[in-house]
Amino acid sequence: MILINNHQKILVFFGGTFDPIHYGHIHLLESLAKQIKLKKIFLLPNNIPPHKKQPIANPNQRLEMIKLAIQAKPLFEINTQEFEKNTISYTIDTIKSLRYQFGKHQPIAFVLGQDALLSINTWNNWDKLLENCHLVVCPRFGYTRNFYTKKIQLWLLKHKTNDFNQLKIYPNGYIFLVQTKLKNISGTKIRQKLTSGESCVKLIPKTVINYIKQQKLYLK
Ligand code: ATP
Repeated sequence: MILINNHQKILVFFGGTFDPIHYGHIHLLESLAKQIKLKKIFLLPNNIPPHKKQPIANPNQRLEMIKLAIQAKPLFEINTQEFEKNTISYTIDTIKSLRYQFGKHQPIAFVLGQDALLSINTWNNWDKLLENCHLVVCPRFGYTRNFYTKKIQLWLLKHKTNDFNQLKIYPNGYIFLVQTKLKNISGTKIRQKLTSGESCVKLIPKTVINYIKQQKLYLK
């Protein structure tokens, strides 16, 4: 069961493969929380990602790395609902199940990076997402804020708001583009560095590095 502080009326979820969790995720969410005054963000690791190769670390290992990374950070909590199903983790299914769980009046937001937003029209039932939640989009190093096709750019303009309060008042339907610092970090880059024996101390928490070593993850 999810408990939230009374002052935070909106439920905020951040999905990803977290293979592994890194400072790109953590700093981005901490900055987001500061800007829009959030006390809680739920990390939603996916089991079988629809648009990527199966992660290298298994679900238990990814979960363990998330736990280690957030252990002294009360901002974060983990929602393991995608791990509980052995099917492809489509965001729309997860959001619909959250909507069912919390009712039609509860404001729910899904946070994603700009890279993910740019390909959102390839997601399963993407056009149903805003019927069920808001989207909060963080910029990502190397990715433009504009869509490549006019149709989706118009979709963005139609739903975009500059006022985060709208997302707290209404249960769904808005897209909020937040201004967080650009960090040139990705899971792919970190896995490559680890495979080639390079240091990642500035990219992932020390506790996670130790776990990666202990589990012999991301080796050649
Ligand atoms: P990979 O390189 O393996 O694809 P990733 O680092 O992009 O991994 P995921 O764990 O799949 O990470 O990402 C989850 C979410 O985090 C996505 O919405 C992605 O856009 C966002 N994200 C990850 N890293 C950053 C970053 N450095 N800046 C902004 N958004 C990010």
